[in-house]
Amino acid sequence: KKKYDYLIVGSGLFGNVFAHQMNKNGFKCLVIDKRNHLGGNIYSEKTEGINVHKYGPHIFHTNDKSIWDFVNQFVEFNHFRYSPLANYKGELYNLPFNMHTFHQFWNVKTPQEAKAKIKDQIKDLNIIKPKNLEEQALSLVGKDIYEKLIKGYTEKQWGRDAKGLPSFIIKRLPVRYTYDNNYFNDKYQGIPIGGYNKLTEGLLENIDTQLNVDYFQNKEHFNELASKVVYTGKIDEFFNYKLGYLNYRSLRFESETLEQENYQGIAAINYTERNVPYTRIIEHKHFEYGQGPKTIITKEFPQEWDKNKEPYYPINDDKNISLYKKYKDLADQEEQIIFGGRLAEYKYYDMHQVIASALKKSNDILNNQ
Ligand code: FAD
Repeated sequence: KKKYDYLIVGSGLFGNVFAHQMNKNGFKCLVIDKRNHLGGNIYSEKTEGINVHKYGPHIFHTNDKSIWDFVNQFVEFNHFRYSPLANYKGELYNLPFNMHTFHQFWNVKTPQEAKAKIKDQIKDLNIIKPKNLEEQALSLVGKDIYEKLIKGYTEKQWGRDAKGLPSFIIKRLPVRYTYDNNYFNDKYQGIPIGGYNKLTEGLLENIDTQLNVDYFQNKEHFNELASKVVYTGKIDEFFNYKLGYLNYRSLRFESETLEQENYQGIAAINYTERNVPYTRIIEHKHFEYGQGPKTIITKEFPQEWDKNKEPYYPINDDKNISLYKKYKDLADQEEQIIFGGRLAEYKYYDMHQVIASALKKSNDILNNQ
């Protein structure tokens, strides 16, 4: 018998939740990660007493009580609500687009006035069925908001002209005719008190882990250790890129510690002008109502991905979707290997979704024993 029942490649939420469920049911797991820390992209690094979200700011939100109860077993959450501001040439606006924003733009006070204003702004454009992101956005919020808050921001985010971007990117653009700055509609929201690493530690209690090890550097050895493998890395890498590379959009983060207590008074400000090279500034302490004398801010720069950069957002165009399907067919033939998580499924998952997916996968296996 092998030493472990499951080898889990990747210590992100998918791997950690899966390992937790299996371990709880008596299966021995080893979790490995090529990074020098556990937790995958939810990892935060404590500096000056502030939890710095290393791979971009993470706000937990879900409507599913069972997922909320699941994470609350390990850590309590605070009452943080994500309500970013937009800065366009020094003017500040509330996000997501709601009555506050409409009031700031047009001095309208009622939903009826706001709707009439938007209608008036697009009446000459004759958009019946939006055929790209620009038309989609225009028909939702009108010309003024589109030009100041959406166009430049989206173009730098995706490195492409808004007319060349598909309309579905913005389908879920939250627009509200209420005075409500809460970005997410979900019933349960917050940031773990003490940081996301507490969630990771709770999930991995009593589970063996190894850091700084790349599965592919020593695949035979790791396969020998366990009966089954759960793989949460990039699916194309698993097959040695033999059908080609799946593309991503990447990000670069620039952080600085400032000798002041409070830099911008809020966790996130989006910079919506195209020629400001970053898309937002994050001030980490505000996620946890930090009171210390210093602060840490991070500028987020979108960038083209290449194989030496972190893959962040999958590109859901036809070319990449059809390449992913080919890899998926190969993955389905690997009987001893379970593929899961955002990289192995080439899919953008929010945290609550990837947790749900790992719970489902592990429960299906446990129920079939
Ligand atoms: P990951 O966390 O990426 O874990 C995969 C792990 O596998 C990594 O640690 C990697 O090092 C390891 N690995 C890969 N290959 C190998 C190998 N060969 N050998 C060993 N280890 C390997 N979600 C929200 O709900 N709210 C948010 O506000 C939010 N904000 C986000 C902001 C950004 C910028 C991004 C990119 C994502 C955000 N998310 C957010 C989504 C969230 O990050 C994901 O849902 C979650 O991290 C997915 O977990 P995972 O296990 O699938 O992947």
